[in-house]
Amino acid sequence: MTQVVDVVVIGGGQSGLAAGYHLRRLGLDFAILDARQTPGGAWPQTWDSLRLFSPAAYSSLPGRLMPPQPGEAYPDAAHVVAYLTEYEQRYELPVHRPVRVAGVHRDGELLRVETDSGAWLARAVISATGTWSRPFVPAVSGRTEFQGAQLHTVEYRRPRDFAGQKVIVVGGGNSGAQIAADLAYDTELTWVTPREPRYLADDIDGRALFDHATARRRALDEGRTDTGGVASLGDIVAVAPVRAARDAGLLKAQPMFDRITETGVAWADGMTAEADVIIWCTGFRPALTHLAPLGLRGPRGRIPTDGTQALGEPRLHLLGYGDWTGPASATLIGVGRPAREAARQIADLLR
Ligand SMILES: Cc1cc2nc3c(=O)[nH]c(=O)nc-3n(C[C@H](O)[C@H](O)[C@H](O)COP(=O)(O)OP(=O)(O)OC[C@H]3O[C@@H](n4cnc5c(N)ncnc54)[C@H](O)[C@@H]3O)c2cc1C
Repeated sequence: MTQVVDVVVIGGGQSGLAAGYHLRRLGLDFAILDARQTPGGAWPQTWDSLRLFSPAAYSSLPGRLMPPQPGEAYPDAAHVVAYLTEYEQRYELPVHRPVRVAGVHRDGELLRVETDSGAWLARAVISATGTWSRPFVPAVSGRTEFQGAQLHTVEYRRPRDFAGQKVIVVGGGNSGAQIAADLAYDTELTWVTPREPRYLADDIDGRALFDHATARRRALDEGRTDTGGVASLGDIVAVAPVRAARDAGLLKAQPMFDRITETGVAWADGMTAEADVIIWCTGFRPALTHLAPLGLRGPRGRIPTDGTQALGEPRLHLLGYGDWTGPASATLIGVGRPAREAARQIADLLR
């Protein structure tokens, strides 16, 4: 059976919900299709000790402040899941689960959204599928020869799974630093970063990152020089567990190795490290394969956009994948503004 709505939102994580909030306010008829069984987007799948890098009030979607988590300055992932669950109920957002979108196709005046449980026809589509389902691991010589286990960030849960093992953590961003800190006490840890770890000052957290992104947005809006992405501030927010492990001297980073052997890794100068497991904290790519039928893909696996609107298909908006769809749009507090812009532009288009 084919269903017809004004707008289909693909993905029911924080980005899809923020879009739903604004579409609802504008009185549009829409459906949110989400592949997962339960609410929360990527958040139910993260490691146990993960902490947000901002306090609750700075991690809120439009309309509803995230309440503080009792006893925690920086909420954990379960708190985010509870907040998102309550958010979609509060605003009665029409989320359909589990519905996986296979492809979006042009169908005359409409876009046809093919799913694993029937098709939807829509006058516009917002894609908000995140990056979690597309983990990225770099090509490193010898990777297939390694006899131990290899995991990506998405598969890591807790240190006791690796107690007493020789673990190599690869990655100098927040995931790499937090997972290395998590493992520093119970394993024989080697932390490898492609460049020297760059910590933000200890008193800086996600609030400063958001202020920076807001200043950038303002500069772009006013036609001033781009102030640059938040990466210019540093890569790693020194949340308490990272700071503790670093200050205890447990987070000494090694430069990137040159190849992987059957039993570990090797550097060009002859140094080696043995490993039972390598954990790749090497990032993600946007999950865009469902948009392939539209033929919009540009350089670096992205779809060229003006703000959130796809340049090659004005009925399509992209939300939450990273700075290329709006400064800080991949964060809880940052996605509200581009979601509002996308909803407004769609309302104008449909009028
Ligand atoms: C380790 C880590 C720590 C982070 N810490 C913070 C932080 O402290 N503060 C902060 O603000 N941000 C943080 N972020 C960034 C950001 O908040 C998350 O990446 C967030 O999950 C992005 O939300 P999203 O809705 O865009 O994507 P997701 O949460 O990934 O949601 C996308 C949804 O789309 C669904 N989907 C995917 N493909 C399809 C399909 N084909 N059909 C139907 N549904 C589909 C997925 O199942 C999922 O439910 C962190 C990110 C990571 C990875």
